[in-house]
Amino acid sequence: MNFISTKGTSIASIEEALMSGTSEDGGLYMPESIPKINIEELMTIDNYQEFSYQLLSHFFKDSSLEDDLKDIVNQAFNFPVVSKEYNEDEVQYSVLELFHGPTAAFKDFGARFLASTMSELAKNKNESSLTTILVATSGDTGGAVASAFNNKTDFKVVILFPKGRVSPRQKHQLTCWGDNVVSIEVDGEFDDCQRLVKEAFNNQQLSKQHNLCSANSINIGRLLPQSTYYAWTALNRFKAHEDSSSFIIPTGNLGNAFACFMAKEMGFPIHQIVFATNANKTIPDFIATGKWEPRPTLPTLASAMDVGNPSNMERFFNQYSDEKKLLENLEAYIVEDAQINEEILSVFEKNNIAICPHTATAFNAFKNLPSSALNQSHWVLVSTAHPAKFENIVEPIIATKVEIPENLKTILNLETSYHTIGKDLESLIPYLEH
Ligand SMILES: *Cc1c(COP(=O)(O)O)cnc(C)c1O
Repeated sequence: MNFISTKGTSIASIEEALMSGTSEDGGLYMPESIPKINIEELMTIDNYQEFSYQLLSHFFKDSSLEDDLKDIVNQAFNFPVVSKEYNEDEVQYSVLELFHGPTAAFKDFGARFLASTMSELAKNKNESSLTTILVATSGDTGGAVASAFNNKTDFKVVILFPKGRVSPRQKHQLTCWGDNVVSIEVDGEFDDCQRLVKEAFNNQQLSKQHNLCSANSINIGRLLPQSTYYAWTALNRFKAHEDSSSFIIPTGNLGNAFACFMAKEMGFPIHQIVFATNANKTIPDFIATGKWEPRPTLPTLASAMDVGNPSNMERFFNQYSDEKKLLENLEAYIVEDAQINEEILSVFEKNNIAICPHTATAFNAFKNLPSSALNQSHWVLVSTAHPAKFENIVEPIIATKVEIPENLKTILNLETSYHTIGKDLESLIPYLEH
């Protein structure tokens, strides 16, 4: 299958799309068409890894990775996808827990898959040159990418994170890897980190010299694997109840929600996709006004969703030539910090479960759905991170300690080290040196 840039001029194989992240014309890669999948054939599979392999093989047909795909998927998805059902005041819903990977956020799915595919491609290449993964993070991406690439010797990872904007445990996860991982705190916002990455990539000489490569959520190699857990969850629900699922997704850069859109396009029984945002409301404002107006990022309690210019919106624009149609199909709820706070408390009091501030946006949006929407499909609230990762926010609200899961404990026992730099490219360059 070929991959075509959203700007329309670059065409790439899956290998090229994975390794380059963005295309030469500055667009984002998309499959030339999203395949319609015969879901009957997948109905009998009761193992998530096997299911994901079958699904993803449509995108890897005739590529050099085709024969390795099964191993790649098994290696990357070595932790469970957990769906729990709740019944509250006669309303049934599910919570899809995507935080059982090594860094306790859903980003492990995409990062581990990308690391395994890139590493396979590096093995197939004859020359042994080091590739530098340069990644800007608002907190969770960096940890997931560092963890995924940490033992891959063909790669060096440079992580940029904003000073004072990540939780203490996130910071630990960003700075505890050593070896081939360099962690850099930037005296600025997430937007500054992202700009630095862009400037480095746009600098041809720098980019060539260090073999720079992106692992941000604009890389199609992160979105494809994320579509599998939506497909899997919706199909399992359909098998048991013969109904379709709607997902409420805590949304920042819109990668996770776009992955759900792809699963829907492939033909899985998905009804509505609802975005829950924090006070960074570029997407809800677009839906309300029809005007796309990116803006500076506001810091919120759900910091991994602090994105003022969601990059993956370009993929939605690309999928709909008719903007009116696009607007009709999008639905979003804004959840401000005060509501996040209330939601964490109320879910704890009612259900005795702790949820992270990002997940709280989905719970709050669910409460605000029109009652007519409740009966049309089964609702699934997406839980994007484990609450213990944001204990500094969650514990004071619920006045209870959140138990640390084993995956996080392992990481929190590692020593940390990092560098601090200003928000200019000159300060970054020395750290790119091999
Ligand atoms: C990254 C992240 C999000 C936002 O996901 P996008 O794909 O950027 O929309 C939500 N919650 C958590 C915990 C995250 O780490």
